[in-house]
Amino acid sequence: MGKSLFLSLDGTDLAVGAAVAANFAEAFDVIVLTSTVNDSFGAEKVMATGWASLPPAAAYAGELAKLATGYARVFAVSAMWSKDLLPRAAGVADAACVTDVLSIESDTRFTRPMYAGAIVATVEVSAPQTWFTFRPVGFPAVSDAGASVPTETVAIQVDDSAVRNIGTRAKEGGRPDLSAAKVVVSGGRPLKDAASFERVIGGLADALGGAVGATRAAVDAGIAANELQVGQTGKIVAPDLYIAAGISGSTQHMAGIKDSKLIVAINTDGDAPIFSIADLGLVGDLYEVLPVLERELKKA
Ligand SMILES: Cc1cc2nc3c(=O)[nH]c(=O)nc-3n(C[C@H](O)[C@H](O)[C@H](O)COP(=O)(O)OP(=O)(O)OC[C@H]3O[C@@H](n4cnc5c(N)ncnc54)[C@H](O)[C@@H]3O)c2cc1C
Repeated sequence: MGKSLFLSLDGTDLAVGAAVAANFAEAFDVIVLTSTVNDSFGAEKVMATGWASLPPAAAYAGELAKLATGYARVFAVSAMWSKDLLPRAAGVADAACVTDVLSIESDTRFTRPMYAGAIVATVEVSAPQTWFTFRPVGFPAVSDAGASVPTETVAIQVDDSAVRNIGTRAKEGGRPDLSAAKVVVSGGRPLKDAASFERVIGGLADALGGAVGATRAAVDAGIAANELQVGQTGKIVAPDLYIAAGISGSTQHMAGIKDSKLIVAINTDGDAPIFSIADLGLVGDLYEVLPVLERELKKA
């Protein structure tokens, strides 16, 4: 029991935050961290910080913890920023913290993946306050934008004496963000070198208007950039279409792609484990298959 507080990065996650809030009987409030919103999606109170960009988590986690006093739970979409912020703030608040919630069984009981998604654990929290991040795929967004309510300004003091942003660099290449892309084309170890990776994997991704991903083997071999790694220790993706080319399907890689709607695997080895979770599989050489796909897509 008790009121919820949803931390929204920029308002675009409000519909899915409202879907999560609907699992609890009492009303919810929202703090929009880097933007302002017009729709409430059913929130009782909508607050905004007025920040143009997100400060480092360490610079405001303590202040946020104080502000959240009185809420039974505080939650946000699972993302790099929230995984940095929520455990810190929960620590300051001496509250429970659960990450990557898949479903909500009751006010105090949640399911979450463990061991790279090999099992789904049910966890029970006993602290008076819980902070959690959730995976949006389990919570279909609320379609009713609700009555618009005036946004209140909330002052969260930022102490950046220990950590501060010294610059932000835009991603090069113009491809969509891997974590949010509708289409992801990923390549593995057989891509030999960075130039082949960019030509074969990047070429097909561009033909589909998608993002590029890679396995850790490809990243470790210097074939692909670190930020492209998908999996347990990389990014979790949930696109409409995931194409895995030359990827064996290790549990660590599969942990990052399980929520994809359609998985297509291309591998020379018909017994590769990736075929056990693929919706469509093609036993073939990626150097032959991918350029044909790219060519045909460009014709269409
Ligand atoms: C703690 C830990 C965390 C990890 N985290 C991650 C993670 O986040 N993400 C991740 O990806 N890995 C992670 N790994 C590594 C993981 O265990 C695997 O080693 C890695 O995913 C394998 O990458 P791969 O599929 O590219 O390579 P391989 O396993 O070598 O597979 C290559 C595949 O390509 C196929 N192939 C070869 N030539 C061709 C061709 N011409 N055309 C088509 N197919 C071809 C082969 O049949 C094979 O199936 C982690 C490991 C550990 C221990």
